[in-house]
Amino acid sequence: MQLDIAGKHKVFIQTIQFSHAVNGCKTDILRLDNIHPTISGNKFFKLQLHIAKALVEGYRTIATFGGAYSNHIVAVACACREVGLQSVGIIRGEEPINKSDTLLQSASFSMQLKYVSREDFKDKEAIKNRYKEENYYWINEGGYSCLGAEGVKEICNWIDETYTDIVCAVGTGTMMAGLIAGSLPNQKVTGISVLKGATNLQKDMEALLRPSDLQKNYEVIDGYHFGGYAKHPKELIDWMNLFYQQNEVPTDIVYTSKLCYAVNDLLQKGYFKPDSKLLLIHSGGLQGNLSLPVGTLVFNT
Ligand SMILES: *Cc1c(COP(=O)(O)O)cnc(C)c1O
Repeated sequence: MQLDIAGKHKVFIQTIQFSHAVNGCKTDILRLDNIHPTISGNKFFKLQLHIAKALVEGYRTIATFGGAYSNHIVAVACACREVGLQSVGIIRGEEPINKSDTLLQSASFSMQLKYVSREDFKDKEAIKNRYKEENYYWINEGGYSCLGAEGVKEICNWIDETYTDIVCAVGTGTMMAGLIAGSLPNQKVTGISVLKGATNLQKDMEALLRPSDLQKNYEVIDGYHFGGYAKHPKELIDWMNLFYQQNEVPTDIVYTSKLCYAVNDLLQKGYFKPDSKLLLIHSGGLQGNLSLPVGTLVFNT
């Protein structure tokens, strides 16, 4: 039994236009957002080997960590339901009175939600200790892991050697690590950090790379977080609506909107060499937009 791969035929590459495209650069986007209705985009790839391992090793329950709007939490809940595993979500913060769509959906996949204060949430080992009698297969917050990166390498099967640049959003860096591992010698991987002041991000990402991959061409870029993780000022919402009107590509408020915004800005600043051929990774995550008031976006998610 493994995670259903039926959605892979829904992956496609689309050409996109940026107002600031200059220097003969071409821009395409790899649409992973439709690969699965809930285990969207990169989460599918990051989880697939964990799920396979948990099953092979005879675990019955997967446990993991995340916030109330976490794409990772709902993806784990759904993936476990699909393969017949139980799931436990350790959620940061007190139980909210009005639960987010993410939490409601996770619960609908029978995930047991355990709320932990923000303070206690910081000590993951102490939390794991509380449950040591239960034989849980633990996955790190956000799926940060070598096995996750290994699963992401598969995304490179869609990326041919004509692309000079692969550009993705970076949360934990697991996706970026997998893309670096799977990249070809002529390619550069640029990661757009969506976190504010994450000084260790590059090191954490590099910890997932093999020594030989450290020689590859890659860079993590800061400064496109729009105020911090998941912050979405009006300027970003306006940008998402404009980008949709120009390209019919829906983006999410946490990751892919900031990725596309950053690429537009970097094109203008001449970051990419003339005549580069860029492939942006649409890593999914559209469910996160459900937290916005109806009508905020011109597209449905
Ligand atoms: C989780 C997520 C990311 C971040 O992936 P990391 O491997 O944690 O860096 C990027 N995009 C979307 C849509 C996500 O849901």
